Amino acid sequence: MDATVPFMSTYLDHAASTPPRPAARTALSTWLEAANGSASHLDGQRARGAVEAAREQLAGALNCSPHEVVFTSGGTEADNLAVKGIVWASRQRTGRVPHIVTTAVEHPAVSEPVRWLVERGDATATVVDPGPDGRVAVEVVLDAVRDDTALVSVMTANNELGAVQDIPTLGTALRQRGVRLHTDAVQAMAWLDVDVDAWQVDALALSAHKFGGPQGVGVAVLRRGLPVEPLSHGGGQDRAVRSGTFATGLVAACGVALAEAVADRPALRARVGALADRLAAGLITLDGVRRNGPTDPAHRLPNIVHLSIDGIASDALALELDRAGVAASGGAACGSGAAAASPVLAAAGIEGTPLRLSLGWTSTDADVDRALEVLHDVIPRLRAGRLSPGRLNAGGPGRLNAGRLRAEVAR
Ligand code: PLP
Repeated sequence: MDATVPFMSTYLDHAASTPPRPAARTALSTWLEAANGSASHLDGQRARGAVEAAREQLAGALNCSPHEVVFTSGGTEADNLAVKGIVWASRQRTGRVPHIVTTAVEHPAVSEPVRWLVERGDATATVVDPGPDGRVAVEVVLDAVRDDTALVSVMTANNELGAVQDIPTLGTALRQRGVRLHTDAVQAMAWLDVDVDAWQVDALALSAHKFGGPQGVGVAVLRRGLPVEPLSHGGGQDRAVRSGTFATGLVAACGVALAEAVADRPALRARVGALADRLAAGLITLDGVRRNGPTDPAHRLPNIVHLSIDGIASDALALELDRAGVAASGGAACGSGAAAASPVLAAAGIEGTPLRLSLGWTSTDADVDRALEVLHDVIPRLRAGRLSPGRLNAGGPGRLNAGRLRAEVAR
C-alpha cells in the first residue's frame, strides 16, 4: 500500500468522504497561512473577510441568514451542538427534563448524544422506527411529540440506505406546535435542494467532506432566536456558541465547495443518478442480490446503491473487493474498531450481507463497469467457496487491510 496516495481504488465510497473539488483545494491552500480572523490588524481583517465570504456563500446556498451559520469541525460536532445545546438550553429555561423525539435511523452523531443525555438524566427520548425502506412516517413522529418535547431530530437523508425523510412536512407541522426541529443534512446536501427557511427547521448540520470540501469542517445552522447552550467556552467567536480561532482555510474551502456543489447539483443528480441506477440494475440480476431503501427515486438519494447479498460472509466480500481495488462500504458499524451490526439495518428489518456502493462527483462509467465486472466475478466465486484466484487483482492496488475487515466505520 502506498500511504502517500489518497485514492487509488475504483472509488465507490463517496458517502463516507468525497474528494475535494478543485476550487476547494485552491481556497484551502490560499487561506492556509491566514492570520487570526479575530485579530484587529489588516491581516486579521483579511482572514476575517475570507471567513465572512464563506458564511455568505453558505447562507446563500442554504437560504438562511449569514448570522445563523456557525462553523464547526464537522458533522459530528454540528449534530452534538444542536442536540445537546438545544436540550440543555431548554432544561435551563424550563427547569424540566426535556423530551427528545428521534429515529432509529440516525447517524451516531445524533443517536449517541441522545443516548448520552438520557443516560445522564438530562433528557428522556422516544425513538421512532422506520419502515422497511428506512423512511419514518411523519404521523408517527408527530404522535411521539409530548407536552415536554423540546426537540425533534430527524435526519434529512440516511447514510446507509439513502432514505430521504419528509422534512418539509415535518417542519411545518412542528412549527405549528412550537416544537424545535433539528435535521442532520450531512448526506443530503450534495443531492437535495436543502432550504432551511422553506423547510422551517430550527437547526441543521452539514459536513464539508460530503459535498466536495475538505475533511475537518462543518456547519451548524442555528436559527435566529434559538436558545443553544455552547459545548465549549472560550473566546466567544461565532455568537459565543462555538468559541475557537476560525479555521480560515477550511472555512473558505467549505464555502466555495458548497457554492459549486449547489450550482452543479441538478446536473450531478441526473448524471450520477443514471450511473447508480445502471450499477444497481446490473447487480440485481445476480441471484440473491437485492437493492434496499426506497424504490421511489424521489424518496432516496441518487448516489447510494445499498444491497443485501445472500450466502456470503461480509469479511470475505470486503477482502475480495480490496484485492480487486474496489473501495466500498459494508454499510455501517461503529467507529471504535469493534465489529457491530448496523442498528439502522436492524431497525428496517434488512437481512443479508450489506454492501453500500456510493457514487459522487468524480464517478465515471468506467467505475460502474469495473464494479460490475468485479462483483459478477466475486459473488458467485465466494458462494462456491473458491477464494482468491487473483485474476481480478492484476491491476489492483493490493491494499489489503486486515483491520478494515473487523472495523467498518459508520459514516
Ligand atoms: N451525519 C451523517 C448522516 C453522516 O453520514 C456523517 C458522516 O460520517 C456524519 C453525520 C458525521 O460527519 P463528520 O464525519 O463530518 O463528523
